[in-house]
Amino acid sequence: MFLTFAYVALGFAAMEFSGWFIHKYLMHGPLWMIHKTHHQPSHSFFEWNDLFSLLFGSIAVGLIFLGAESFDFRFWMGMGISMYGVLYFVLHDVLVHRRFRWLSKPTHPLLEGIYKAHQAHHKTNQKKNAVSFGLFLVPKEFFNTKEK
Ligand SMILES: [Zn+2]
Ligand SMILES: [Zn+2]
Repeated sequence: MFLTFAYVALGFAAMEFSGWFIHKYLMHGPLWMIHKTHHQPSHSFFEWNDLFSLLFGSIAVGLIFLGAESFDFRFWMGMGISMYGVLYFVLHDVLVHRRFRWLSKPTHPLLEGIYKAHQAHHKTNQKKNAVSFGLFLVPKEFFNTKEK
C-alpha cells in the first residue's frame, strides 16, 4: 500500500521536475518552433504545443498498459503521471488560459500563486528571458504576495 502511493507520487513528481526541465531547456530551446504556438496568439482551438500533452499522455497510457497485468510500479507511475496530466489540464488550460470557461479567477492563495506565476511565464512571447517554468515549482515570490 505504501509502495503504491510512493509510485503514484513518484510519477507525479517526475512530471513536474522533468516538465520544468523540458520546458526550460527544450521547449524554450530547440523545440521552440513547437512551443511558440503556446506563447503567441493563435486563432484555432488547438496549438502545435498540444503535441507535448499527447506525448506525455501516451507515456502514461503505455506504462499503465505495460503494468496492468500485475499492477506493478509501471501501472502506478502511469497513474501518477495521469493524475498530474488531469491537474495540469485543469490548472493550466482551464484556470489560467481559459480554454474552457469553467472556472473563475482564483482567490485561494495557492491557486492564485500558480495563476500569477504562469501569467508571469507568458509575459514574454519570445524564446529567451521567460521566467517560472514549472506549474507548481515556481519562484516563491508568487505566493504570499498581497494584492497591491
Ligand atoms: Zn513556455
Ligand atoms: Zn501557458
